Amino acid sequence: MRAPVNKIIPFSNVDGPGNRTSIFFQGCPFNCLFCHNPETIHLCRGCGLCVESCPAGALTLEGGQVRWDSAKCVQCDTCIKRCPHDASPKIRWMTVEEVLSEVRRAAPYIEGITTSGGECTLQNEFLIPLFTAVHALGKTCLIDSNGSFDFEKDPRVLQVSEGVMLDVKAVEPGWSDTLISHPRDMVLKNLEYLLRVGKLYEVRTVIFPGRDRENEETVRYVAEHIGDGCFYKIIRYRPFGVRERYQKLLGEDETDRYYAERYAALARERGAKRACVV
Ligand code: SF4
Ligand code: SF4
Repeated sequence: MRAPVNKIIPFSNVDGPGNRTSIFFQGCPFNCLFCHNPETIHLCRGCGLCVESCPAGALTLEGGQVRWDSAKCVQCDTCIKRCPHDASPKIRWMTVEEVLSEVRRAAPYIEGITTSGGECTLQNEFLIPLFTAVHALGKTCLIDSNGSFDFEKDPRVLQVSEGVMLDVKAVEPGWSDTLISHPRDMVLKNLEYLLRVGKLYEVRTVIFPGRDRENEETVRYVAEHIGDGCFYKIIRYRPFGVRERYQKLLGEDETDRYYAERYAALARERGAKRACVV
C-alpha cells in the first residue's frame, strides 16, 4: 500500500502540542477559496505542462506520468506556479514503512506526529497501520482534518489516534458552498461526534475581513457546541499564497488582529473558554 505524500516536515511546533513530525498528504475533496497550499488539492494529471518550465531538469514525462528527481530539484516552485490543475509533480508515493523510517529518525526529539494535507483522511487505510506503528514507538498521533470524513461510520482511525484538529470554516449553507465548495453537513456532524467521543483536540475557524455576519454565525455555533471541551483557534485570514482569482473575492487585506480578537472574545463569552487568536 502506498499513499501520495506532498512533504514531511520532521520538526514542527505549530501542528499540535509539542514538537511534531508533520506529514502532508496530496489530495483534498474541498476547494477552499482561501487555501494557502492549492497545489495539494489534486493529484497530477500527467499533462506535462510543468516539465518544460523546470530550470533544473528535475522533471521528465514518461509514459504519461511526470517523474520528479528530488536530487536535481532546487525547490524553486516554478512547476507549482505553472500547473493549471492545482497539483504538484513533487510528490512521493510512499509505503507505511518509508514514512515510518522518517518518523523514526525524528523520534528522539518529537512528542508525536500530525497528519495533514490536502486531506489526510482520504488515506484512511494508510493512516491506521501508520498510527499503530507510531504508537508502538511511544508517540502520539493527531489528525488535521477538514471534516469531510465520516468518523462515526468508520471510527477505526480514531481508535489509534489521540484526536482530531478540525476546521469548521462555515456554518451557514450558502457561505459554506461559496467558501469551501462543499456542503458543511459532515463537518458539523463530526464536530458533535468527535466531541461526544472525546476525540476533538482543537477546532479552527478563519475570520475574514468585513464578513461580520458569516464570521459571527460560525464562531457562535462552534463556541456554543464545544464549550470548554477543546481548544478553539481563531485564525486571521491572510491573502499571501491564496490564488489570485480568489483574493479578489475575499479581499486583498489580511484580517486585522483587533477585529479577530472580537470573535475570540465572543467565543469565550459563548462558553469556549480556550478560544484565542493565532
Ligand atoms: S521546484 Fe519544480 S520547477 Fe523547481 S527545480 Fe524542483 S521540480 Fe523543477
Ligand atoms: S503537476 Fe500539473 S502541470 Fe505538471 S504534469 Fe501534473 S497536472 Fe500537469
